[in-house]
Amino acid sequence: MKAQAAVFREVGVDLAIEEVDIDEPRANEVLINTSACGVCHSDVHFAKGAILGPVPTIPGHEPAGIVEAVGEDVTSVAVGDHVIACTSMFCGKCKQCLQGRPHLCMGRRQCQRPKGDTPRIAINGEAITQFADLSAFCEKMLVHESAVVKIDDDIPLDRAALVGCAVTTGVGAALNTA
Ligand SMILES: [Zn+2]
Ligand SMILES: [Zn+2]
Repeated sequence: MKAQAAVFREVGVDLAIEEVDIDEPRANEVLINTSACGVCHSDVHFAKGAILGPVPTIPGHEPAGIVEAVGEDVTSVAVGDHVIACTSMFCGKCKQCLQGRPHLCMGRRQCQRPKGDTPRIAINGEAITQFADLSAFCEKMLVHESAVVKIDDDIPLDRAALVGCAVTTGVGAALNTA
């Protein structure tokens, strides 16, 4: 399906709105209608070249939205659920995951589609790398189920979005480091 996204192609060139193709959700994937997304300093660092990664890409990694479709085996969310997405992907099968430490997951690559497979996002057939496995500066996000957390329907989505990175980073710094 088609969607509009803010695409980053190179340092020093502004992001540009382009039409992208989003694939259908497969097993363990969730398609989300993006309602809001914060602009994190990491997005800015990336755009300025302070963090390097594959391009072209679509930045954005602290979004909230509403589930539009789910692939087979998805049990944690359903169509119509309000959700936030974050960079917390985990495989659920590796030693770290099975010992209750999914934040140290060693199988995170399994949460991506294999190289050479139909990409989740493409422009004119060219695969677009998902920034932080999310790429939230886009009208729709196709992400791994473990990146998605259901929230209450009455939480405003433009504020819930910040929980995905800004809030967790600040709270984590205060509780774990300070
Ligand atoms: Zn961030
Ligand atoms: Zn794992």
